[in-house]
Amino acid sequence: MSQQSSDVIVIGGGPSGVAAAIALRQAGVEKVTLLERERHLGGATRHCSHSPFGMLEFGRVYLGASYGRRLEQEVSRHGIDLRYGHSVTRLGEDGELQVSSDAGLSSLSGKRILVTTGTRELPRSARMVSGDRPVGVLTTGALQAYVAFHKIMPFKRPVIVGSELVTMSAIMTCLSHGARPVAVLEPRDHALVSAPFSWFPPLVGIPFHLNARIVDIVGRARVEAVKIQRGSVIETLECDGVLFSGQFTPEASLFQMSRVETDRGSLGPAVDQNGRCANPIYFAAGNVLRAVETGGWAYREGRAIGRTIAADLAGAIPADTPVRITYDDPVKLVVPNLLRSGSTIPVGLENFQLRFLRRAKGTLTLEVDGVTVWRRRANWMPETRIQVPRPAGVLNADKVHFGFQAQA
Ligand SMILES: Cc1cc2nc3c(=O)[nH]c(=O)nc-3n(C[C@H](O)[C@H](O)[C@H](O)COP(=O)(O)OP(=O)(O)OC[C@H]3O[C@@H](n4cnc5c(N)ncnc54)[C@H](O)[C@@H]3O)c2cc1C
Repeated sequence: MSQQSSDVIVIGGGPSGVAAAIALRQAGVEKVTLLERERHLGGATRHCSHSPFGMLEFGRVYLGASYGRRLEQEVSRHGIDLRYGHSVTRLGEDGELQVSSDAGLSSLSGKRILVTTGTRELPRSARMVSGDRPVGVLTTGALQAYVAFHKIMPFKRPVIVGSELVTMSAIMTCLSHGARPVAVLEPRDHALVSAPFSWFPPLVGIPFHLNARIVDIVGRARVEAVKIQRGSVIETLECDGVLFSGQFTPEASLFQMSRVETDRGSLGPAVDQNGRCANPIYFAAGNVLRAVETGGWAYREGRAIGRTIAADLAGAIPADTPVRITYDDPVKLVVPNLLRSGSTIPVGLENFQLRFLRRAKGTLTLEVDGVTVWRRRANWMPETRIQVPRPAGVLNADKVHFGFQAQA
């Protein structure tokens, strides 16, 4: 196995990884290596035949595919050691990575490693939907890859599951490429993003059912129908495909197979306010932290964490033992989920970002060493971004807790 080294290795060439690699070079870091398992940059944006991408970072609107090309131009201007077709298969505790490419297995080591491997939608297997195993059961990402890269629309009359923004992306992709969804199903009693789901499906004549879930997929070679449960009633819907949209989870299998700690809420890496993991060699940014944000958010976060890594290499950031942030149910996750004291430079993650597991009415509080320093009462929605400003002094606290008091 050949062995090479770098100052910083960035794993993943989506918006956050590209922005970080550029920021590192702009801050004077000599050798920055960007590893991307595919043959292009752009990550999840590349599949999207729609806009908007790029407004915040480049001041103009791109379609997903052209946004990826813009990232490639930017990278080529900054002296980054870019390696396509390089898939990282193991994170070593000391910053040594195992990498698989056409040339076989190799070993690469970095003084710092930034992981920006993004997120993925929950596929059928992880949703525990029973029935046959026919062709035609996809996620939105897979549908968009079929359409964008192979010019194939894999079904004509799919049933779509979900009610997130990405579900709208799935519906639009179907309608603009010759498929007409038979129905959209949401297992909860409310849509996850209420605004478009209250008016768009009726406008285009697609039934949208709440409290509805697939209990069986029927079809030998291809999907022929699904059995759905609505309340106590089971009914059969004829269709030729099933599209499971949303329920994003961080692409964190590298962490799960290594000793770099993951967070029990986000299921991504545990990071402090600088995007730094419990193992101080490792950092993370973008959707791998909390599935899922916009491309612009991922880009800005990657850039900020790239800058903090450059500062860290120059000796500005101490890496002492972090304090773990705790929280009550129904908070699903808090990012950052660790805090380290003593940092004097601008931090990568400016606010706390929270998500809820389910819809809940009540008061959310931030308690620092037992004192409530922030509170807000609201009707909290799952999978909606919640930002809580980070109060002064919190970095030196011994205990930081998000509490929740339910109200009728
Ligand atoms: C269907 C869909 C529609 C969307 N629509 C919009 C939109 O309209 N506007 C918007 O702003 N955002 C949109 N988004 C969100 C946007 O695409 C993401 O926020 C953004 O791509 C996240 O960037 P990232 O760098 O964190 O991760 P990603 O873009 O997911 O990039 C991760 C990269 O890491 C690589 N990688 C993973 N594992 C490894 C490994 N082991 N070794 C090497 N490389 C690896 C992957 O190949 C990928 O290139 C959409 C997302 C989806 C899925």
